[in-house]
Amino acid sequence: MKPINIDIVPEHLKPRVKEIIDQMIHYGKLLSKHDLVMGHGGNLSARLNDYIIITKHGCFIEELSEADFVIVPVKSTSSYDKVASVELPLHRAIYQETNSNSVFHTHSPFIAVISHIVERFFRPIDVESKLVLKEIPIIKAPPGTTELARAVVELMKKGYLAVIAKEHGIFIRGENVRDAYKLACLAEHAARTWYLVRMYRRSTL
Ligand SMILES: [Zn+2]
Repeated sequence: MKPINIDIVPEHLKPRVKEIIDQMIHYGKLLSKHDLVMGHGGNLSARLNDYIIITKHGCFIEELSEADFVIVPVKSTSSYDKVASVELPLHRAIYQETNSNSVFHTHSPFIAVISHIVERFFRPIDVESKLVLKEIPIIKAPPGTTELARAVVELMKKGYLAVIAKEHGIFIRGENVRDAYKLACLAEHAARTWYLVRMYRRSTL
């Protein structure tokens, strides 16, 4: 089975589309292995020139195949948008307004916990996250809405690599698929470390 709407892509780019999809399948399995996605939660995409390769609505990130991806334009909407993840408008806005080439949305468990505890900004305490992620804004907006898309993209335009959606999960933009995966893992590591240190301090007071 081919990716949906693959024929929108010029022939010479098709091998590259396959390569990028293979990467998303690979990193999708790893996201699942590390419990950052489960069931039908989360969505992944990558940009190739003027095209977005994005997971379909309702697919399982842990068991993706080529048929779970749909290809749509970056610059305009298309009749295939309705097949894509409900967060497509958010992914598209990030590609339109930043120079990112991959967007991951995960329901990372410690990130979700942090979003219940912290208001406005999550500030990691471990060295690498402080260096790379600096701080992660937290916003509240319903999934799949223009409100969520606008809020996330406005923050990413300011330079943030990740934005947490309260009581939901995290949106991450990367230079490529591997980079987005790395940042998704780093953000969860930061959240887990922050939470465990906080619990330890509370229990030893
Ligand atoms: Zn979600």
